[in-house]
Amino acid sequence: MAVSTAAPAAAKLRITEIFASVQGESTRVGLPTVFVRLTGCPLRCVWCDTAYAFQGGEGRDVASVLEEVASHGLRHVCVTGGEPLSQKSCPALLTALCDAGHSVSLETSGALDISAVDPRVSRIMDLKAPGSGEEARNRYENIPFLNAADEVKIVLADATDYEWAKACIAEHALTRRCAVLLSPVAGNLEPADLAEWIVRDRLPVRFQLQLHKILWNDARGR
Ligand code: SF4
Repeated sequence: MAVSTAAPAAAKLRITEIFASVQGESTRVGLPTVFVRLTGCPLRCVWCDTAYAFQGGEGRDVASVLEEVASHGLRHVCVTGGEPLSQKSCPALLTALCDAGHSVSLETSGALDISAVDPRVSRIMDLKAPGSGEEARNRYENIPFLNAADEVKIVLADATDYEWAKACIAEHALTRRCAVLLSPVAGNLEPADLAEWIVRDRLPVRFQLQLHKILWNDARGR
């Protein structure tokens, strides 16, 4: 595995926003967390809720991002996007955050290579179901790099997506590798239906709702 050991403070990034909130997803749900949202994504999931991060942003170096993160006084940091790994300095940022003593998670689309990510980082990797419109972008070569500290997240728009997820989990033995999270697309799939299917099928996954949508209706910066 190619691991980035250097974390140059001057490495450049494009940042959409940095803010403190509670973690809305993953097994870290509910933990006070600083979010660092990197700008840009090469995908266009039809249900994307962060399209505002596709463009714009502010040019920052790693040192200034570290300083702002530190100002929030929180241990947990989530690097998200967009697709953070679409920026070549993202691995350097992740390493620098780990070196600064943070507990770091990375939210990534599953379309880009995760092998250069610092092994101290918990990778929350999407697999895109057909209803996203981006199923063809799944980089299945990433799966062997996942370990017990990582998580796979599959967002489901309908019953077809659920059946796809079940088959994908079985084919790649995902639940033996790491936690698997299934979420309904808000407004498309009734959460109670998904919960019932999971119990009916005795699927060893974790059902999740996006806490930040329940609390703040997806307001930016919350
Ligand atoms: S990968 Fe994430 S940020 Fe990119 S389009 Fe899909 S949901 Fe949006």
